[in-house]
Amino acid sequence: MGLVYDYIGVGFGPSNLALAIATEEFALRSGREPNVCFIERKPAFSWHEGMLIDGSSMQISFLKDLATLRNPASRFTFISYLKVCGRLEDFINLKTFFPSREEFNDYLGWAADAFAGQVHYGEEVISIEPFYNAGICAGVEVLSCSASGQSTRRRARNLVLGIGGVAQIPAAFTGMTDSRIVHSSRYLGALDAVLGDGSGKRRVAVIGGGQSAAEIFHDLAGRYPQVEASLLVRGGSLKPSDDSPFVNEIFNADFTDRIFAQAPEQRAQMLSEYRNTNYSVVDLELIEKIYHLFYQQKVRGQHPHRLLTHHEVASVKTEDAGVELSLRNTLSGDQRRERFDVVILATGYRRDYHRTLLAGFADYIQGDGVDRQYRLQLRAECQAQIFLQGGCEDSHGLSDTLLSVLALRSEELVNAMFVDSAGAQKRESLQLAEASLG
Ligand SMILES: Cc1cc2nc3c(=O)[nH]c(=O)nc-3n(C[C@H](O)[C@H](O)[C@H](O)COP(=O)(O)OP(=O)(O)OC[C@H]3O[C@@H](n4cnc5c(N)ncnc54)[C@H](O)[C@@H]3O)c2cc1C
Repeated sequence: MGLVYDYIGVGFGPSNLALAIATEEFALRSGREPNVCFIERKPAFSWHEGMLIDGSSMQISFLKDLATLRNPASRFTFISYLKVCGRLEDFINLKTFFPSREEFNDYLGWAADAFAGQVHYGEEVISIEPFYNAGICAGVEVLSCSASGQSTRRRARNLVLGIGGVAQIPAAFTGMTDSRIVHSSRYLGALDAVLGDGSGKRRVAVIGGGQSAAEIFHDLAGRYPQVEASLLVRGGSLKPSDDSPFVNEIFNADFTDRIFAQAPEQRAQMLSEYRNTNYSVVDLELIEKIYHLFYQQKVRGQHPHRLLTHHEVASVKTEDAGVELSLRNTLSGDQRRERFDVVILATGYRRDYHRTLLAGFADYIQGDGVDRQYRLQLRAECQAQIFLQGGCEDSHGLSDTLLSVLALRSEELVNAMFVDSAGAQKRESLQLAEASLG
């Protein structure tokens, strides 16, 4: 195993794709071409493919694409993509900042194609361990496994984890592997199970009060006549996401500096103050569509679809006849049972899986936090650098899990690895260690 990459990127979603672009642009201007690769468990590029619902659109301006905020002249901007596809003028005529998710996925896939030679698709990274030169921890050894069970080890000086989130499963559903219980991330893939053979009514519960829950509910109620959909939310209503202009400044790049400069309590307070920009909230236009749908039910005197507010799932029983939910009213404490054919958990994502992947590095990792450059704090004698993309919301703010800062964050990582003094010092001492090995 002679080859040691400058970095390995784990995951090839938008975060590491943006990094691939920033790395290429660094190589073009510096004349130094880093040797890098990415490992992605999916067989090909796709972006939240289970939620590419017909008619769904982006929650962010197309100008916050993979490159524009860093380099509007990049060949990887959304506008370049439109030009290449011959749709630039047509897109202008749409008069929107918010393309469909289908189109944005196509844009991301188009950009990803340019890096196909650097990406090992169809391999899941299962562990990351230190490797040693002359007794010094000189970098990371990444073990991945293909769908056919073939394992591969690769080494790098630096590691960038851009692995996104892991489905968040509510306590009542923990450990259940019933195919009738589906996380929103697999919604479209599970539609056949949701719809059945089409011969009879299908009762579907959608759990969650955020954008994904609302989109799935609206899709089911609007497009599939055999479905009776119930949207179960803990709160008293569906609440709109705040995307007003002053509030939206929290997604500006300089806000990352502001929040990072705070003490942990102030950071937590700032996150909580602006939580309603992203969590348990729904785009106002979609709320209005759902309200309209319920109004139509009143006009017709037929009520196949329901919004159950102040409800949570206390326990779950799976039976041949369906999934039985014990529903607790969060105000009165009353419980009752209801049976559904399918339950969809639109309950969000956890972002702590990097800890599992990095278990082999535990001896070197000092604490939970990262520095401003998204770099985990490792013991000084360790030559490796490990960066997290999308796992730093607590310290870097709500933009961390979104697309907002990708174009700029990717450049910060490139600078930390190939330009800044700390990274450069680590590289020099690593080269010395390698030289001493002869
Ligand atoms: C339905 C939906 C819509 C969204 N819409 C918007 C939006 O409009 N605007 C916005 O700003 N944000 C949006 N987001 C937030 C979203 O997190 C970002 O858009 C973006 O996907 C973040 O990119 P990422 O690369 O960090 O993570 P991801 O897109 O999740 O990509 C991570 C990649 O890592 C791979 N991976 C994970 N573990 C491993 C492993 N062990 N080995 C190998 N590969 C691995 C995954 O397969 C995946 O491809 C949306 C999220 C969802 C779920």
